Amino acid sequence: RPIVAIVGRPNVGKSTLVNRIAQTSDAIVHQSRGVTRDRSYHVADWNGREFMLVDTGGIEPMKSDDVFATSIRDQALAAAEEAAVILFVVDGSVGVTEEDESVARMVRKLKKPTFLLVNKLDNPARENDSLWEFYSLGVGDPVAVSALHGHGTGDLLDEVVSLLPEDEGDEDDEPDTLRVAIIGRPNAGKSSLFNKMIGNDRSIVSNIAGTTRDAIDTVVERDGKRYRMVDTAGIRKKSTVYENIEYYSMVRGLRAIDRADVALLVVDASTGVTEQDQKVANLAIERGCALVVLLNKWDLLKDDYEREAVMETVDRRLTMAPWAEYLRISAMTGRSVHKIWDMVDAAAERRASHITTSQLNKLLTDMREFGHTVSDGKRRLKMHYVTQTGEKPPAFTFFVNHTDLVTDNYKRYIENRMRATFDFKGTPIRLRFRAKK
Ligand code: GDP
Repeated sequence: RPIVAIVGRPNVGKSTLVNRIAQTSDAIVHQSRGVTRDRSYHVADWNGREFMLVDTGGIEPMKSDDVFATSIRDQALAAAEEAAVILFVVDGSVGVTEEDESVARMVRKLKKPTFLLVNKLDNPARENDSLWEFYSLGVGDPVAVSALHGHGTGDLLDEVVSLLPEDEGDEDDEPDTLRVAIIGRPNAGKSSLFNKMIGNDRSIVSNIAGTTRDAIDTVVERDGKRYRMVDTAGIRKKSTVYENIEYYSMVRGLRAIDRADVALLVVDASTGVTEQDQKVANLAIERGCALVVLLNKWDLLKDDYEREAVMETVDRRLTMAPWAEYLRISAMTGRSVHKIWDMVDAAAERRASHITTSQLNKLLTDMREFGHTVSDGKRRLKMHYVTQTGEKPPAFTFFVNHTDLVTDNYKRYIENRMRATFDFKGTPIRLRFRAKK
């Protein structure tokens, strides 16, 4: 999905605008706290056109040597670099500030389609007067919007959407090609691994330009099978100034995950699984990618003590995907790198599983007999039947008498039972519950 980045100094109403726009979609995919403050990614939809809305969380001007502020600023910029369209928000009730000017300078350098949105103009009579002064920012015609009330956002979205690049639409053209994303923190060893994976056998078929300016996919053929390594541009040539910024790799990874069947999460084993790895893994799962965890740089671990310490971080931090398979590798020595392809195939195959309704209902019968009962004292949960309602990843709908009786705990229990019965190693599965009397 193309990215629309929202930039602007703090407190001009960026998050309100995000909420306003994302309301039109039913799926808020991910709100991440902690990478830096109030940054969020949303999938938004306007007239059937989907895009990724990235709230950059505020470009702070560089006044001091405050490393934190500087890094936020770089990260916001990095997000803006990735964007197809930029929404630059200013505060109409305050007028042009020095900070706006400094943001404008950065925005102008990016040379991207930009909308200058003047928010908080609550007095329509004075609107034109107030708008006028924002021409001085040199980023085009100021447009009045009300993030809070929604004025102007519909027209705006029409225009934004018309500027988005077309979808590649090749998804169906190559049904046999598996899409693989290599994701992970900077310096985890993604490029080394990529080179190792494709290096020796001259297997690259072609490089294909992706949706965004610098997204390049690499198509690889192995044993008669085709793999499309998604968004390898950032992996193959490391030229951007942002390469060391976690957030940049996050945006990049996100975009890759969005188009992938299988995500290869490269973890630096010399540091173990970090919080950032955890976030990226979560994103991949939310998007329905199969997940293979590669514990890279295994060669750097000196003794059993260190090796155990790494595995401890795997157990502790990858609890959301106890089903993921992992492999200890070294992109440097080549240890176990050849095994990756088979794991990709296996995970993708399970992600495409079809379970028959009779197999599913046999499990349901077993669960009725041996499972525990769920009730709220007055009502008792009854599961009538279950059927597969989605694929890649597999999704199952359970028809039950009262959906509100299905607790998160019970969902986990069912998932565990499903996984113990069918082979879903490496793939997320989705469980849905619908009421049926
Ligand atoms: P990327 O940012 O994830 O693409 O990481 P790179 O592939 O650029 O690797 C970062 C650094 O780690 C480089 O100096 C690599 O040589 C080194 N590196 C990558 N994989 C391994 C490995 O398996 N073992 C060791 N010892 N070093 C590695």
